[in-house]
Amino acid sequence: MKIGIVGITGAVGQELLELMKERKFSYSEIRLFASNKSIGKKIKFKSKLYKIIRLNKKNLEGLDLVFFVAGSTVSKKFATIASNNGSYVIDNSSAFRLNKNIPLIIPEINSNTLLSSNSKIIANPNCTTIISLMGIKPLLNLQKIKRVVATSFQSVSGAGNNGMNELLENTKRFFNNKKSLNKVFNKNITFNVIPKIGSFKLNGYTEEEMKFNNESRKILDDKNILLSATTVRVPVLRSHSISLNIEFKGNIEINKIKKEIIKFPGIDLIDNPKKNQFPTPIDSSNRDNCIIGRIRKDYSKRNCISAWIVGDQIRKGAALNAIQIAELLVRK
Ligand code: NAP
Repeated sequence: MKIGIVGITGAVGQELLELMKERKFSYSEIRLFASNKSIGKKIKFKSKLYKIIRLNKKNLEGLDLVFFVAGSTVSKKFATIASNNGSYVIDNSSAFRLNKNIPLIIPEINSNTLLSSNSKIIANPNCTTIISLMGIKPLLNLQKIKRVVATSFQSVSGAGNNGMNELLENTKRFFNNKKSLNKVFNKNITFNVIPKIGSFKLNGYTEEEMKFNNESRKILDDKNILLSATTVRVPVLRSHSISLNIEFKGNIEINKIKKEIIKFPGIDLIDNPKKNQFPTPIDSSNRDNCIIGRIRKDYSKRNCISAWIVGDQIRKGAALNAIQIAELLVRK
């Protein structure tokens, strides 16, 4: 299998390489791409040095599978070129997610959609959507869901390497009594929270909030489920957290929910208030599985529960999900 990775120097690109090693993903050739400023730089992978090459039509030729992890502008320009060349494309950007002919896949949830599709391009969902649905899907095995209200607490690495650097740099500046430089987040992220991720839409929601809405409906194949999100950037380096409030169509028991979660692949339960046990973003960092806890009945509404889920958005929210899709393609 000849593989390309577009966006190799980024947070997700680097994690992809790490996961290929960990999961012993087999390949016969690997081509690495980044922006023009990185051409010629060398990347070490399994004790071999690879040169970053220019992203163009010619260099994409002959590849069996290309991972696009360089943002939607790059994907819009080059993913179709790669798929027209005959390569499979796994795209981590938002470029194709809502295209009805392109499968939007979380392997634990809707792998059948991928297996029955002929599309050469497969879209990887938004990170907050993936982590939230990893908690929501097992519950659908018990009872239909009427409505979900989600509030996310998203780490700075969700905005890539530059996001992490801005938090670290502004924290140093704070202790040196210097004014913050707010380029990635446009407000100071140090010792602050920012209730805006992506641009505002006409309906008052942000782009990130609407991604959760539209992508969840597509993945769950449920046009009627009601969803509302508030997405918030927080000064956490890695892993997103989401507070979920879920209203079911009928009664549901907490112990049954917990049993269902334990059975479901890709999610762990840490939920023991008596022992003060609940998951935090640090617990899920560099971990494949998402973790859910704080599962409790919502006292204010019938058939309603609240829960808290955390997940490493660079792993399950991006690179791991993409590798799992690739593994499914290999089996297909
Ligand atoms: P990042 O750290 O900012 O890295 C961006 C990568 O894209 C770098 O390798 C960069 O190369 C490359 N790139 C930029 N412009 C390019 C161009 N014109 N041609 C070729 N390569 C170019 O971003 P990231 O966080 O890894 O995100 C990558 C993608 O994954 C985005 O679509 C993002 O939305 C998605 N995603 C990210 C996360 C996350 O948690 N970070 C989660 C889910 C999905 P240079 O180093 O040369 O500039």
